[in-house]
Amino acid sequence: LLQLYQPLNIFGFVYRAVREALNDMETMFELLTVAAEVRDRPDARPLVTRGGELRFEAVDFAYDPRRPILKGVGFSVPAGRTVAVVGPTGAGKSTLSRLLYRFYDVTGGRITIDGQDIREVTQDSLRAAIGIVPQDTVLFNDTIAYNIAYGRPGADRAELERAAAAAQILRFVQTLPDGWETQVGERGLKLSGGEKQRVAIARTLLKDPPILILDEATSALDTHTEREIQAALKEASRGRTTLVIAHRLSTIVDADEIIVLDQGRIVERGTHAGLLARGGFYAALWRSQQEGTAPETEAEPETVV
Ligand code: ATP
Repeated sequence: LLQLYQPLNIFGFVYRAVREALNDMETMFELLTVAAEVRDRPDARPLVTRGGELRFEAVDFAYDPRRPILKGVGFSVPAGRTVAVVGPTGAGKSTLSRLLYRFYDVTGGRITIDGQDIREVTQDSLRAAIGIVPQDTVLFNDTIAYNIAYGRPGADRAELERAAAAAQILRFVQTLPDGWETQVGERGLKLSGGEKQRVAIARTLLKDPPILILDEATSALDTHTEREIQAALKEASRGRTTLVIAHRLSTIVDADEIIVLDQGRIVERGTHAGLLARGGFYAALWRSQQEGTAPETEAEPETVV
């Protein structure tokens, strides 16, 4: 029986390996299908931006039709203003930024920029108008100069330095023994989460888009790094229409409007002060985060927002 069992066992092993490989391929094809779904229409025109006013109009979205993620979400970001989206994990916050960048198309409603439905414009022109500072920045195995200049290939050293200074990363670069020529990425210097985010901000400043999406990292940062990043973000969002996907409420107290998303629906909206006074969902979230960060706030009272 044992003799018979062993080949069967090996067969089982091979079968499982083949199944897993097929599953991986399925996932790959699913990803390819998603990428292929979002195509330029034959009559797509280039996006024409004036101030970069953003509107989400009754937006519905589902990655899988059986599980709706966004339900009738409507808000706008006037040109040059900042709107922040907050809410518990899984609420659909990052999905909003993926839809705006058109990684996926909405399943209901529409998204417009300066009155143009983003499905009717070319993807190239749409993506040229939007800068994303993502949660996790991809670094190339190249120099730090290359990694920042990626925002606008061909930028000269003076432009690079201005962007790096505004993103609060210039001093860090200057302390490296090889300076701008320092190799970073997997085969070079590993940057911390906060440093990577500042590289992303510098890239975006070089790209100089009218619209900005800041997808804040979930990871907690120390007070000093947090302040440097806040200063960099403030610089980056000046004069740009900005959508902040926020995890730390301390970074968005100045936003023109705060949208509170829960399970794909807007449950509250207003300014920081207005929402605190309301004493609802946002106020509770604020209280719980303040309790968590109270000792640090006490230790360093002056705030840079
Ligand atoms: P967090 O604060 O944790 O980043 P979030 O509010 O940004 O959360 P989203 O990333 O927008 O949440 O995700 C919303 C929901 O959509 C989650 O339940 C998530 O599991 C689901 N989701 C996200 N991406 C995909 C995908 N590619 N395919 C299927 N479901 C997805």
